[in-house]
Amino acid sequence: MKPTQASIITIGDELLIGQVIDTNSAFIAQALNKIGVKVLNRVAVGDEKEAISKALDAAAINNDIVIITGGLGPTADDITKPLLNEYFNGKMIIHEPTLAHITNIFENIHKRPMIERNRKQAEVPDVCEVLFNETGTAPGMLFKRNNVFFFSLPGVPHEMRWLIQNHVIPTIQQNFKAHTIAHRTLLTAGIGESFLAELIKDFENELPASIKLAYLPNFGMVRLRLTGTSEDDVALNKTLDTLFDQLKLAVTEFLVTDADDPMEVAVGNLLKSKNQTVATAESCTGGYIGHLLSKHAGSSQFYTGGVISYDNRIKTEFLDVSTKILTTVGAVSKEAVEQMAISVREKMKTDYGVSVSGIMGPAGQTIEKPLGMVWIGVSSKEKVYSKVFYLRFDRLRNIEVTANQAINLLRLLIINKI
Ligand code: ATP
Ligand code: MG
Repeated sequence: MKPTQASIITIGDELLIGQVIDTNSAFIAQALNKIGVKVLNRVAVGDEKEAISKALDAAAINNDIVIITGGLGPTADDITKPLLNEYFNGKMIIHEPTLAHITNIFENIHKRPMIERNRKQAEVPDVCEVLFNETGTAPGMLFKRNNVFFFSLPGVPHEMRWLIQNHVIPTIQQNFKAHTIAHRTLLTAGIGESFLAELIKDFENELPASIKLAYLPNFGMVRLRLTGTSEDDVALNKTLDTLFDQLKLAVTEFLVTDADDPMEVAVGNLLKSKNQTVATAESCTGGYIGHLLSKHAGSSQFYTGGVISYDNRIKTEFLDVSTKILTTVGAVSKEAVEQMAISVREKMKTDYGVSVSGIMGPAGQTIEKPLGMVWIGVSSKEKVYSKVFYLRFDRLRNIEVTANQAINLLRLLIINKI
């Protein structure tokens, strides 16, 4: 039996000109994926009748479910509702619970009178089931034709999310047989995508056709994901577990975590398990490493604090980087980052110190110190280690990659690999 299939249509001129990034369809795709519905395609169309009708026609051919967002508002560019009314041969009627809800919002929350435009938001085609929207004024709607379910939702992201969680997903689960889609994800570091592909080519060649392997490179690290779809939940999970064990074994030298977590969570967990702490001294990343280490709940157990030693004076005054170092080898150097990593660890009384100093661009490079050159240092009570990286991205991406590489070096120091 083929899996339940869906298509997502997001509506709005703002999506086509790139003014608004279409996060709605990503959220919907994730929610559908979780319950085993396969998303066949995602399309964005403008606020134009013909384009929307054509997208609906096309989506109805291959799918069991079509989810539409946007264009339900009270303004003239919001044409989805009248269009759906026509498309499904309905006539507009007032939905009394929604009218009462809108009236209540205006009387008790906005404290101003409602105008006709707002009242119109309570109108729905008589051929739909109304999905009551507690979080806003435009209700969601469900139309059914030839066993295809068409859900129409407002474009406002938090309203859309509420309707997906409270109406759409439960309705799908009641009406369609769900397949299980299951994933296993691991994170590797210290090996590029093509070398990784070489390393696991035997494993990849022997994968059953029902299981897909994806390479997801980011921040100089590569995530590997196994995905399978089946009606048999238990058998699928058993197969995936076996294959995942083989995959982990094949990449063991480069394995950071076998959970679908970012690097900083994996390293945070490692520190927590050892009851150890870290402090940061950041120049070119301006606090981004500290941000990554502190953005997840529970990070106070292992992250103590940091110094953003952006200016050289701060490197000297707070982190004891000598004027001699600064005037001879400079701030972007092995000597500077090693001293920073040592001092921050001592001053913050932690088990580890992490430091970075680099040239992020687009200016500031010299012949000896090209754009994207970054020194990263890590220290423990026993050891200090540093490494130079040459990055080739724009400023923001260089910062992200540097932060991830720094946290990875910290990991290697913790597990005694450097
Ligand atoms: P409502 O009637 O509840 O205001 P609506 O259905 O009229 O909603 P739109 O006018 O299309 O929704 O969009 C409202 C806002 O929601 C837009 O300004 C935009 O910021 C955001 N939005 C719309 N579509 C998307 C999308 N696909 N992804 C992310 N944000 C979106
Ligand atoms: Mg719109």
